[in-house]
Amino acid sequence: QLIAAAKKTGAEASHPGYGFLSENPDFAEAVIEAGLIWIGPTPDSIRAMGLKDEAKRIAEEAGVPVVPGYRGEAQDAKTLGAAAKEIGFPVLIKAVAGGGGRGIREVTRAGEFADALASAQREAAAAFGDDRVIVEKLIAKPRHIEVQVFGDKHGNLVHLFERDCSLQRRRQKVIEEAPAPGMTDEVRAAMTDAALKVARAVKYENAGTVEYVVDGTGALRTDGFFFLEMNTRLQVEHPVTEAVTGLDLVEWQFRVAAGEKLPKKQSEIELNGHAIEARLCAEDPAEGFRPSVGRLRMLRPRYERPRFDAGFDEGDAISSSYDSLIGKLIRSNNEQLADDPDRDICRRMLAHDLECIRVLGVSTNASYMLRAITTPAFERGEFHTGFLGDRHDEFTDKKDLRRIAAIALALKDASEAALTSDPWRASDGWRSAAPSTMLWRFEQDDESVDVVLEQTKTGWETLLGGARVGVRLQPPYRDGPHQIHLASDDARPLFFECGGVERVVFLQGEAFTFEPLGASREHADGAGGDAVKAPLPGKVVAVSAKAGARVKKGEALVTLEAMKMEHALKAPRDGVIAEIAVSAGAQVKEGALLVRLEEEAA
Ligand code: ADP
Ligand code: ADP
Ligand code: MG
Repeated sequence: QLIAAAKKTGAEASHPGYGFLSENPDFAEAVIEAGLIWIGPTPDSIRAMGLKDEAKRIAEEAGVPVVPGYRGEAQDAKTLGAAAKEIGFPVLIKAVAGGGGRGIREVTRAGEFADALASAQREAAAAFGDDRVIVEKLIAKPRHIEVQVFGDKHGNLVHLFERDCSLQRRRQKVIEEAPAPGMTDEVRAAMTDAALKVARAVKYENAGTVEYVVDGTGALRTDGFFFLEMNTRLQVEHPVTEAVTGLDLVEWQFRVAAGEKLPKKQSEIELNGHAIEARLCAEDPAEGFRPSVGRLRMLRPRYERPRFDAGFDEGDAISSSYDSLIGKLIRSNNEQLADDPDRDICRRMLAHDLECIRVLGVSTNASYMLRAITTPAFERGEFHTGFLGDRHDEFTDKKDLRRIAAIALALKDASEAALTSDPWRASDGWRSAAPSTMLWRFEQDDESVDVVLEQTKTGWETLLGGARVGVRLQPPYRDGPHQIHLASDDARPLFFECGGVERVVFLQGEAFTFEPLGASREHADGAGGDAVKAPLPGKVVAVSAKAGARVKKGEALVTLEAMKMEHALKAPRDGVIAEIAVSAGAQVKEGALLVRLEEEAA
């Protein structure tokens, strides 16, 4: 169908992107046979590198270190089990034809081998139509570092330095960066040389990536990296390489496919600054990264646009038929400031992009990635491929975020109410003795969050679960997001945005959809409140309170008829009636002040 479409539209060439078809040699051949130009490596090199066992044999022959393991023909459980024992546990079982992290099983004990093997074979047969596997030594605390290579039809071959893709979930990359933290000139020379050897062995042309698993237990070493596989296509993470080399890799792909020489010699290719990419995926990290499908009702990167390479627009539907990748956020910096390294500048900019992104319709991994890249360990560049998995609970916990989102919404409502002329919403904060308190109750997913706001001379304080936290609301800068500052966490403001009718709060990359169950200016527990207000709209049928009278907590003050029932409204505490705001027969709105108490005179 693709080839027919190409012919019908008069297309001369086919660029396969970086999906399944890009590494399918049969498709490449079919394109070429149809008289079109194939923008990618030759079908032969795709084939040679397509199988993990064959690729490792080629690498080994070229003198490149590979992970110790079994890559034999025999595929019976007994042979494979014996091989695993010889290699020594823990081992990885990997589908020979695997890709995208599928068909891989980690086995830590001999007793678990048979089951893991059967399940790897099942997945491999289903996903790749080939159930053969290899068995490899599992490298402890490994990092994933890869080298971008490029060849042309004239025998020229260059590398474009490395990328670190160690932040993975389910053995799939999530955060990628270039250059690799802690890389030295010496190790870089060894890794790029080895990558060129592998590429040369298959007369590689066009864009390709040589992947290594790297010993991450200490500093990077020239003898601490092992060839994993070669990806014979453009990679999802190629933008970080573009950012640090200033080159357009897709342009190079077209030029090479058209028969041109590589635009630059190795000596002309420079590495400058730093770049980090975050893959925004439609998934729920807390539910084992379950893909989230639906229509993208909103997809907005923040106002100062980062590079955002997206496969979707607002309004598009994300279906379960394709990958969950929505798009990629890329930040780079090459200002080379002495006192603030490039890596940390782009890390902070990317963090800000993640905390300001607004997505509605599907859940995403934005807040998950935000938390990962704002950890001190990531900041120091100390991580390995188990980093995300080890700290999963910490990166997926949303409890605190939900409460802060509720505070944000209450604060914004309160500040807006202060500006309106609606008398019951007006909150001038005047109180004879006690500070003004307001209670907001929000409901989400059958759980409710209470926020007690207390207006003080300097701003607001909130009561959450008994703890008192000072908060400050700062108006948005330009058309940017709102900001709240928590006194308990003065390190960084929290950015949020409130959606219209739906009461959505976008906070730290997460969307919280609240159903407000009403705001009350009265303190919930009755300990300190001094206002008696109408809990629902109705008619005042009796007022038993008398101005100036001393009342006891629980004493009925006003009777309200609402929804065909009478409600006795009682004194929230002991005190003196300071004001009676209504008389019998009055129709009142929800929240209307009925009676106000003041402290008992000493
Ligand atoms: P795929 O074709 O699915 O990308 P890879 O062989 O590239 O498969 O492995 C995927 C990921 O699994 C790597 O990026 C690395 O994090 C991890 N991995 C692979 N082999 C090993 C190994 N021998 N030891 C530790 N981790 C490994
Ligand atoms: P904003 O648009 O809010 O200014 P940026 O994305 O430009 O945000 O930056 C986010 C954060 O990254 C800033 O708060 C700042 O701490 C840091 N940052 C950005 N650019 C630089 C720079 N050139 N030097 C130092 N820090 C920077
Ligand atoms: Mg791989």
